[in-house]
Amino acid sequence: MFIKRKIDFNSLKTRLILGISILSITGLTGVAFAMSWQMKNRLIMSHEKHLNNLAQQIPNDVKIYQEMYSPQQALDKTIKSYSSPKTLLWIKTDQAKITTYSDNLSPEITTVENITDQPKIFNISNQYWLMCSLKISFDEKNLQTIYVAQNINDDQLLLNDLLKTLFLIIFLTNIAIIYATSTYICLALKPIDNITKTAKNISPDKLKEVSLKFNQAPTEVRKLALTIEELLLKIGESWDNQEQLLSNVSHELRTPLTIVSGYLQSLLRRGDNLTKTQKEALTIANSEAGRTVQLLQDLLELARADSGNIKLQMEIVKLSELLREIIPMAQQYSQRQITLSIEDQNINIKVDINRFKQIFLNLLDNAIKYSSDDTLIEIRVSKKEDIIIEIEDHGIGIPLAYQNRIFERFYRMDEARTRYDSGSGLGLAIVKTLVLAMNGNISLISQPQKGTIFTLKFPYE
Ligand code: ADP
Repeated sequence: MFIKRKIDFNSLKTRLILGISILSITGLTGVAFAMSWQMKNRLIMSHEKHLNNLAQQIPNDVKIYQEMYSPQQALDKTIKSYSSPKTLLWIKTDQAKITTYSDNLSPEITTVENITDQPKIFNISNQYWLMCSLKISFDEKNLQTIYVAQNINDDQLLLNDLLKTLFLIIFLTNIAIIYATSTYICLALKPIDNITKTAKNISPDKLKEVSLKFNQAPTEVRKLALTIEELLLKIGESWDNQEQLLSNVSHELRTPLTIVSGYLQSLLRRGDNLTKTQKEALTIANSEAGRTVQLLQDLLELARADSGNIKLQMEIVKLSELLREIIPMAQQYSQRQITLSIEDQNINIKVDINRFKQIFLNLLDNAIKYSSDDTLIEIRVSKKEDIIIEIEDHGIGIPLAYQNRIFERFYRMDEARTRYDSGSGLGLAIVKTLVLAMNGNISLISQPQKGTIFTLKFPYE
């Protein structure tokens, strides 16, 4: 299929190629025209001398013949003595009457206008003639004009052939120059394309391993690529430090907060003499402490995944049994109806069981959270090229504009932020990280106010 690609006139590559092409075409074509002009002049000059000599010798010869013959006979004899099939002569009086002429002279030649004392090339009946004229007075009374025509057809055809070859060579040289420079420019700028492609696909944890291929590149591009590599290395190091810091901070905060949460819970259980307001305050403090512990737990998890420290214990299990175990866990805190339909009860899947449960509890928790109590949540399992698991709710849905972003860390839709304030926006980021770590894939289809389908794909076992 032909794909129409738009030319980007702002690109350095296009500008360089166009600039060099225009320069080479105009330069070489100019040289060709100058050469052709020069060759044509040389051709005229080589015959010009002969014609001038001829025109100047004729009056002398006429005088010599006049000593023996009448004036008209002297003219006839002189003209005939110089005539040949390739050299024709004729004499015109002031009244434009041809008095004397060569035997082979044809009327087309004598009717040519604009013959001057400067030799000029004329094409008459597909033959090239070089012609000039000379004003002369034989009898000191009447002024006459001698016309000389020299057939230069062979030379002119040779010159035309030479010019055709010259223009063909120039045309082919232009194509070769444009092709060679385009190839060179593309090769020279390829490292810049490599930098762009690499930068697009680079993930934060791979910053330090980036290698931009620039062996054949010119020095300037090599320097740029080298500088970018060094820059990425530094960013990679600072990213590592940041991850390490995040992981340390999360770890250090989680332990004391877990203890605080434990004390608050025991205080709430045993605090019979607490007032209603104190109980309410302790309940809020406990739930906020619990939420923060969960948040720290999530951050720790993501930091581990980023540094490649996520440990998975992959096992082959029966998917139907695993899902039947997970559903009651999700229903523990809500009475929502969750249905399960499996195409083949014997499908096996290779996953880390605990992480798989974590993924599903997260997705089911969202499905419960973002749909009303009277709606159904459906889980469907089917077999195609992969194992496909769909989780569908009939809740608030996710507008198209947000669908790409909800797997980002801390990303929450404004609507969800105001109405369902318990989340942190880390759940789906963790889900995606875990699914990818288990060689799976996650995507979604959603329609606002109709519901959402999260689709997970895992390879067969
Ligand atoms: P949160 O803790 O806010 O639920 P998540 O990462 O799990 O964080 O989800 C990110 C955002 O994606 C949520 O704030 C919500 O706006 C949206 N979302 C996730 N699942 C659903 C769903 N099933 N229906 C509608 N919106 C959802």
